[in-house]
Amino acid sequence: MKLDRSEQLNKEAHNVILGGVNSPSRSFKGVGGGTPVFMKKGKGAYFWDEDGNQYIDYLAAYGPIITGHAHPHITAAIKAAAEDGVLYGTPTAYENHFADMLREAIPSLERLRFVNSGTEAVMTTIRVARAYTGRNKIIKFAGCYHGHSDLVLVAAGSGPSTTGNPDSAGVTKNIAEEVITVPFNDPQALEEALNYWGDDVAAVLVEPIVGNFGIVEPAEGFLQTVNHLAHSNETLVIYDEVITAFRFMYGGAQNLLGVEPDLTALGKIIGGGLPIGAYGGKKAIMEQVSPLGPAYQAGTMAGNPASIRAGIACLEVLREPNVYEKLDDLGKQLEDGLQKSADTYDIPVTINRLKGALTLYFDTTHVSNYEHAENSSSQMFAYFFKQMLKRGINLAPSKFEAWFLTIAHTHEDVEKTIKAASDVFSNWSN
Ligand code: PLP
Repeated sequence: MKLDRSEQLNKEAHNVILGGVNSPSRSFKGVGGGTPVFMKKGKGAYFWDEDGNQYIDYLAAYGPIITGHAHPHITAAIKAAAEDGVLYGTPTAYENHFADMLREAIPSLERLRFVNSGTEAVMTTIRVARAYTGRNKIIKFAGCYHGHSDLVLVAAGSGPSTTGNPDSAGVTKNIAEEVITVPFNDPQALEEALNYWGDDVAAVLVEPIVGNFGIVEPAEGFLQTVNHLAHSNETLVIYDEVITAFRFMYGGAQNLLGVEPDLTALGKIIGGGLPIGAYGGKKAIMEQVSPLGPAYQAGTMAGNPASIRAGIACLEVLREPNVYEKLDDLGKQLEDGLQKSADTYDIPVTINRLKGALTLYFDTTHVSNYEHAENSSSQMFAYFFKQMLKRGINLAPSKFEAWFLTIAHTHEDVEKTIKAASDVFSNWSN
């Protein structure tokens, strides 16, 4: 496979774009280095790079592209929005319509607001929770990513009774002291943290189904316990559904699992590929937000007609019959094929899958928390990733990310992917 142009563009990028990428996960740092492929065009389940190589894509832009690239219905909506002007700075009927669609799908969103990214959405839910409770601290779970605002770039301390440490230069120790991190799927650690920090804790922030150390489902009853423990302490529960909303069903993970948070952050899929975020929740809590309440949140681009119309179009596609059945069917084919092939060639893997999203860990331990995911082999993943790329399969360059299927993938694409993986497993030399 020739990658001359990607290599040239990568060199040029480093001269002007810091690190050559606009988001660190796009670099190949997580897979031992190398040149990121510069993609030129995406259509359906496929990518074409600057050198003309074709790929089957499972990155799906880290989640948003559930309909496949350049879906005609979404493309038409974006074109129509461009014709009508992409930014008004006034309310529009589209925003009302889209907010109604979201609330209909996720009833806990009694009131909501649009923002521009998942980062903004999560950051604001924390502010609102603090405003409502008058408390400062939050509890989050190890390995979950919630965007790049200061409060969520905090690494775990040494246990439920210690606050965190800055996980990024530039995040102050004072901020890290507002955050407690406990292991996912560990109700006892959460209980200890809530007992210890008591009425300092404004909110427990959780990805109801984790997407950021691979796809990890909550243990039976875990989220109900989160709600029970938090609410007994008059602490709010925030769901970060930036990845999960509309990924597994038409609605949120909260619908799928039958538990409701007080506040929810959304992003990714709801923008149909354009920049978006949204947050919302119980009316009495959301009334903290300006102009009704004292908690400030604003945005020049918030609710822009282009993102909103793309989001409406995306949800219209997802509302069609059998969308999620198809994703589940493709996901099962992929999981079964990868597992069978790995077993045939004695490659130690564990696959976590929920419907059309899965993660392949190079380890045989069942993964139910971050520590398990971290213990899976980075070296084996890096080798696999690069070998798959050479065979025209585009995965996320990190062992912690998911493979996302789209409704544009076919059984034939999945079969080709399994064949490529079999080829890698059978020639393993790492
Ligand atoms: N929350 C979760 C669960 C995410 O996975 C991400 C991004 O990957 C974010 C928040 C941040 O979203 P954004 O990248 O749109 O700011």
